Amino acid sequence: MPGLYLHIPFCKQACHYCDFHFSTTLKNKDELLTALKLEIGLRRSYLENKALDTIYFGGGTPSLLEGIEIREIMAEIRDNFEITRSAEITLEANPDDLTNEKLMALHQAGINRLSIGIQSFSEEDLKFMNRAHSVEQALQCVKDAQRIGINNISIDLIYGVQTLDDDQWKKNLDIAFSLGVQHLSCYSLTIEPRTALAKMIKEKKVAELEDEKSVRQFEMLMDKAADAGFEHYEISNFAKPGFYSRHNTSYWKAEPYLGIGPSAHSYDRTSRQWNVSNNHEYIRKLMVGAIPAEKEVLSDENKFNEFILTNLRTSWGVDAEKLKNEFGAEASMTFLAIANFQIQDGLMEKSGNIFRLTRKGKFYADRIAADFFSEMED
Ligand code: SF4
Repeated sequence: MPGLYLHIPFCKQACHYCDFHFSTTLKNKDELLTALKLEIGLRRSYLENKALDTIYFGGGTPSLLEGIEIREIMAEIRDNFEITRSAEITLEANPDDLTNEKLMALHQAGINRLSIGIQSFSEEDLKFMNRAHSVEQALQCVKDAQRIGINNISIDLIYGVQTLDDDQWKKNLDIAFSLGVQHLSCYSLTIEPRTALAKMIKEKKVAELEDEKSVRQFEMLMDKAADAGFEHYEISNFAKPGFYSRHNTSYWKAEPYLGIGPSAHSYDRTSRQWNVSNNHEYIRKLMVGAIPAEKEVLSDENKFNEFILTNLRTSWGVDAEKLKNEFGAEASMTFLAIANFQIQDGLMEKSGNIFRLTRKGKFYADRIAADFFSEMED
């Protein structure tokens, strides 16, 4: 079932590691929301009138918007798309925005899942990453959201951070699993070019990342998540049974999606589109009725690479039969030959037609996927 993604490109302050598209001034917020609603109308046919099963407010920081603004966007979506009765409607939020009043307004606007950017339960880490919230706000907002009846909550944590030692990571995980949330997304810190963190490392004000620490903390994460009854269904994602993110799962299963807002991407199985990553340009184009997107028709090689990368990262793995049906006998034989080497190296395992990463292989998911890509390109 198709999904809708909305990119809300505003943040209170820039986290030191982040390279997403956002602005820290809300000066053009009204114009941007007007443009967003115009884009929803202009793109109403992109998903061929199929009902939406997931809606995802991402960013940036969508929780910076007022409840009324979320309600108006939801009204615009309803005017242009059918939404299934049981649709998952997620909003990414930062703890400092989630007052009781805001939580109630979001709930009333139809948000039934929150993805809260907590990142760490250590003040030292939060300060190091330049997060805008405190540990106390993080703990409080989860309790408040649960009290008002939001019973599908995901929290994000980051590991491998220079200030995060193994003891604190263990504490972070213990706290996360004690909160009664249904979903956990954990990312290993990466240094993106043109971020404050990259600059600080270059100027030697901050140490480089330690790969061994990230690997150790990933191991701790997998062990603790299993002990807490969470299923490891994608490299960075863990959920209680029945609480996999439907939105992300639809990406990994190659369902079509429409992305609205600056820098948002769309996919319809044959092509990919991406909106301009500039708020002024986005607004200007929509004000004259133009869709601010570029488009690339996907080659067979693009589709194959995407199929491998997305499926390999998940617990459902690569279905060799499906691969053969979609990409032909030759691609299938190449896949099987490389997969056999990965099995011999203990990085993949096979069960019937399904090939999955082993625990060891999960540390090298991207590198293993790249081995399949390069063979296709030869
Ligand atoms: S709040 Fe999220 S999107 Fe905004 S700067 Fe921080 S990590 Fe990036």
